[in-house]
Amino acid sequence: MYSEAKNPIAQKRNLVTAIPGPKSEQLIKRRAEAVSASLGTAFPVFIERAEGSIIMDVDGNSILDLGAGIAVLNVGHSSAKVIENVKTQIDAFTHTCFMVVPYTGYVEVCEALNRLTPGTHKKKSALFNSGAEAVENAVKIARKFTKRSAVVVFEHGYHGRTNLTMAMTAKNMPYKDGFGPFAPEVYRMPMAYPYRCDACIKPCESSVLSMVIHKIEKEIGASNVACIVIEPILGEGGFIVPCKGFLPGLAKFCKENGIIFIADEVQTGFGRTGHMFACEDESVVPDLIVTAKGIAAGLPLAGVTGRADVMDSIHLSGLGGTYGGNPVACAAALGAIETIEKDNLVERANKIGKIMNDALLQMAKKYSIIGEVRGRGAMQAIELIKPGSNEPNSDAQLAIIKYCISKGVLILSAGTYANVIRLLPPLIIDEDLLKDGLSVLDEAIASVKN
Ligand SMILES: *Cc1c(COP(=O)(O)O)cnc(C)c1O
Repeated sequence: MYSEAKNPIAQKRNLVTAIPGPKSEQLIKRRAEAVSASLGTAFPVFIERAEGSIIMDVDGNSILDLGAGIAVLNVGHSSAKVIENVKTQIDAFTHTCFMVVPYTGYVEVCEALNRLTPGTHKKKSALFNSGAEAVENAVKIARKFTKRSAVVVFEHGYHGRTNLTMAMTAKNMPYKDGFGPFAPEVYRMPMAYPYRCDACIKPCESSVLSMVIHKIEKEIGASNVACIVIEPILGEGGFIVPCKGFLPGLAKFCKENGIIFIADEVQTGFGRTGHMFACEDESVVPDLIVTAKGIAAGLPLAGVTGRADVMDSIHLSGLGGTYGGNPVACAAALGAIETIEKDNLVERANKIGKIMNDALLQMAKKYSIIGEVRGRGAMQAIELIKPGSNEPNSDAQLAIIKYCISKGVLILSAGTYANVIRLLPPLIIDEDLLKDGLSVLDEAIASVKN
């Protein structure tokens, strides 16, 4: 499934030095001199190359990647068709600016997005460079179309780091602290968070949904709302899966009130959740859908796709940007999308998701610091608590991640309370390799002192 490089990387975890090794140590020092201290590091090695689900570092260690560059490498590292397309494109041309001289790849990516996103209605797309930029453009489109200004978002939501998307993102530290003032007319609503939601003690979908609708009507006025923007499963917020009925209820409220329903599927898209898009789970058809991360195997690309009447309501040259829909990124996207479809990676997400979910549920039986196992498809997480309460346990999160690093397994943190561990493996991962990673995670949790 991945490219046959000259020296293929064995799909096995293998450490030949401590983590970080001596060459990585040197580079970490060099980086500290040159790179702003504001940028974090989840895994303290420097990469040399990567293939499939394995990252080879500069010291020769083979690291098991259960983060996939934050749900970007759904097709795995060095995916053959992505590399082939990119090489061909680079030999032909690298840039024109689509608004100066157009090229086929851009159109083909838009056709693919229009075809793959939920709903059989006529759709159109526009391409951008990053998830945040695409979210901003979706809001611009919704505002222009509705001639309204209010934007509704949710607690625990994450939409990016630009000024408007910082305002839309829920969590202060590290995303917003000291970076204000933020864009106005963004209103945050309670989120259906079954594990921690007082209102969810009652039948969840009716109580939280009705609270949200009540607040929108009383505090904003439905006729002032341009769009409701929500991640179908919250990513950075800790893989919060809203209770059944919440998303369809919001979509229905939008329809009844002329509000544009925007699904931010930047993290959940392209097969990750066992559907091509997470909205499909409850047959929700968004007016606009925002995509990025999984779209192009790491080349910078993002899209806004949706109702043709909405997408076409913008004046000529109202949207755009110098690099948006870069030809090399489009070539990568076409390779990634072809691979997801040909290799049935949507189905595979369910298969590896079940392996992860089964293993995590077994761990939850053994370890009282696991408060909840949740997710869908190949997007699985555990929320860590102090035993005997549901108090967040961020110390355990740190300790577990540190242990996994020492064993060469890359896992990612998440959650408003910094107490969630999320697993986002490449969808092509070998099952034995995934099980190896899960057994290291099991050891890591066992090593945490309660
Ligand atoms: C990552 C992410 C974004 C921002 O994407 P960038 O490419 O980092 O700008 C927006 N929304 C969601 C749900 C994300 O996970």
